Amino acid sequence: MAECPECSCVIEMENPEVGDVLECSECGIELEIISLDPLIIEIAPEEEEDWGE
Ligand SMILES: [Zn+2]
Repeated sequence: MAECPECSCVIEMENPEVGDVLECSECGIELEIISLDPLIIEIAPEEEEDWGE
């Protein structure tokens, strides 16, 4: 289990894998699993690519 960095609610994961993106059921934010040991979860970047033009 993990804790949402945004709202601190507990997020349940069945088969967490590095790179997985999950959505917090409380605040709806997208979270990406950075590492499993130790468990690190970060807020996934929004789909707002800067193509550098
Ligand atoms: Zn949350």
